[in-house]
Amino acid sequence: MSMKFYSTNGQSPAVNLQDALLAGQAPDRGLYLPAQIPRLPRETIASFAAKPYHQIAFDVLSQYTRGVIPDPDLARMCREAYDFGIPLEVIQGRKFLMRLDQGPTASFKDFAARMMARMFGFFLNQTGGKLTILTATSGDTGAAVARAFHGIPGVRVLVLFPVAEVSASQRKLMTTLQGNVRTLAVDGKFDDCQAMVKQAFADPDLRHIPLSSANSINIGRLLPQCVYYFFAASRLADTDEPVVFSVPSGNFGDMMGAVLAREMGLPVRKIIAPVNDNDAFPRFLATGVYQKVSPSRNSVSNAMNVGHPSNLARLTALYGGHMDETGKIHRQPDMDRMRRDLFSSSISDQKTRSSLKSFWEQYNILLEPHGVVAWQGFLDWAATEDMGQSPIVMVETANPAKFPEEVEKVVGWPPDVPFHMQAAMDLPEDFDRMTVEYGRFKAYLMKHQAS
Ligand SMILES: *Cc1c(COP(=O)(O)O)cnc(C)c1O
Repeated sequence: MSMKFYSTNGQSPAVNLQDALLAGQAPDRGLYLPAQIPRLPRETIASFAAKPYHQIAFDVLSQYTRGVIPDPDLARMCREAYDFGIPLEVIQGRKFLMRLDQGPTASFKDFAARMMARMFGFFLNQTGGKLTILTATSGDTGAAVARAFHGIPGVRVLVLFPVAEVSASQRKLMTTLQGNVRTLAVDGKFDDCQAMVKQAFADPDLRHIPLSSANSINIGRLLPQCVYYFFAASRLADTDEPVVFSVPSGNFGDMMGAVLAREMGLPVRKIIAPVNDNDAFPRFLATGVYQKVSPSRNSVSNAMNVGHPSNLARLTALYGGHMDETGKIHRQPDMDRMRRDLFSSSISDQKTRSSLKSFWEQYNILLEPHGVVAWQGFLDWAATEDMGQSPIVMVETANPAKFPEEVEKVVGWPPDVPFHMQAAMDLPEDFDRMTVEYGRFKAYLMKHQAS
């Protein structure tokens, strides 16, 4: 028997992992969640201390893939996807920094994208299907998706990015791939790219082309993101105390990984989910009234500029409520339990910059604008509750070298480009240019679909 996944809107039938993955969003516009969250036995969680990351990933993910992906295939996928390090640095005492920036695009999105790409590849191989992945990006997601799907048979990737809004290093991570990845530099804004992608998904003329977005609401993006919380806890020696995690949040997929890990049995004391100026969630937690931020606000932690985090529909569901895709609450979740388990605060740009500087001066550890939001959110929480003996793990979601201008402005020098990013910096770029004209984009898409 394979696990079933239900839609948070409750109007579509439950499906297995393969169908949930290939569909992305449920037909009723809800998001998929496991019908029953499996609980790992204590002994299994204890055994993680002696296992490498890819084996922990196998133990966790196999709970969801049984019946649709044979264990030996999943084990191979985990080995291939997770061939890079996950440093857990001591900040001071029981405070740790987990760096999720050692993957090929130097952001935590590599963890999910690399596993999801292999799952797509596995299912397509079984069905003989072809798929074109269309992604509009403001930087990080497009790079992670493009690199993850590079070389996956049966898949063609088209990435649209706003030519003037993407940094040179972000661009090179996408445009140096060749093969089954095409990148389109659009003379417009991110919203223009997104609008063309959305129009293509809704276009009846394109219905014969199997399209997917592989975007952040896909259940295939969420499941792999609970693994590193198990990993972090397993590496904290000589403590049985439940862990506090601080996760800088935008669309709330990363922090949902921590929520899922706790539901699976990981002892977690608190999940801190700080945000930038897009403060819909901390206001919701404080008042019980949800109001999205529209339009979303720009801030230095630009990968978190999300006015209405789609994963809040999942969070609400896990706390017994119902939020639809527009952000309307049909049934209030258990706010008391949410407040007990979670904490959130909004970190201004000014605070982000000053905190980046003071963190460097105090600990000699260089963060970037997203990771420092995790740190500042932790400080906000520690002002309300005694941390006691709890270990605390801050999640650093990107490498400082992805944000050289901002980091240099604050500390006075540019961050080193790590070895794993340098390779892409030296390769020749290849991308096509496009104006914001849907007709032209459509013709391009028909020409470049998967075959
Ligand atoms: C995407 C991203 C985030 C936000 O993650 P969510 O899952 O959307 O909350 C944080 N930091 C970086 C560097 C990112 O790329």
